[in-house]
Amino acid sequence: MLRIGCHLSSAKGYLAMGKEAVTIGANTFQFFTRNPRGGRAKELDLADIEAYLEFAKVQGIGQILAHAPYTLNACSKDQGLRQFAYETMCDDLNRLQYLPEAMYNFHPGSHVKQGVEQGIAYIVELLNRINEQERKTVILLETMAGKGSEVGQSFEELQTILEKVEDSRLLGVCLDTCHVFDAGYDIVHSLEDVLEEFDKIIGLERLMAVHLNDSKNVRGSHKDRHEKIGEGQIGLEAFGRIVTHPKLNKLPFYLETPNDLEGYQQEITWLREKAEYEET
Ligand code: FE
Ligand code: FE
Ligand code: ZN
Repeated sequence: MLRIGCHLSSAKGYLAMGKEAVTIGANTFQFFTRNPRGGRAKELDLADIEAYLEFAKVQGIGQILAHAPYTLNACSKDQGLRQFAYETMCDDLNRLQYLPEAMYNFHPGSHVKQGVEQGIAYIVELLNRINEQERKTVILLETMAGKGSEVGQSFEELQTILEKVEDSRLLGVCLDTCHVFDAGYDIVHSLEDVLEEFDKIIGLERLMAVHLNDSKNVRGSHKDRHEKIGEGQIGLEAFGRIVTHPKLNKLPFYLETPNDLEGYQQEITWLREKAEYEET
């Protein structure tokens, strides 16, 4: 059965997100660990987490994905901002200890004129420091569109990070369909080739989650503007192939499309129908 959900607001807590997921036919979801622009996280509500975990078990919700604030920049040239990224991520990871099977996704960062090599060096440094602390949570590096000076727009850049980190056992990759398309990968006409390239360069065993977004812009545009499934340049049929691909269909899928809950429900319903049709 397809593991699919969407990005939900974490304002009302975990149980509320779990219930919201169920009402739209989702069996997983993604959420920001705190205000996406950074700032303090809410006080941990252990009773809410306990109630959520019980609810999730009964409802079959699993593999939820926590998303770090997207304003963190692990490779800023400003040492204070790098330290802030490190502290925020450590705090998030401490809190995620209460959610045993959640994964943690972050944007590698923007090197802003320092060059991609320096950017990668700082990201590696941050991950090595994070590894000094005990954790069970897997950290995912998200594939990026290459907007501005974003690091992680090619499989090679992500692989360089993964191989330079001293212990990469708890690291993986989250593939964002809009981002890889905007970065130039032709997932519309050559999905098989793109996955083969991913496997050759990074290894498919590192691929642990997929963000499902159509793109407002053409392939290679480096823009990162998400569109509703089927209304952008990637198109409905390509998403059908993505969620049913034998190398992808066991992974959790998260929609980050510009939608309200009803829109998400429609996308989930359509993608589920597609997947079930393929199964039979
Ligand atoms: Fe993201
Ligand atoms: Fe994404
Ligand atoms: Zn994006």
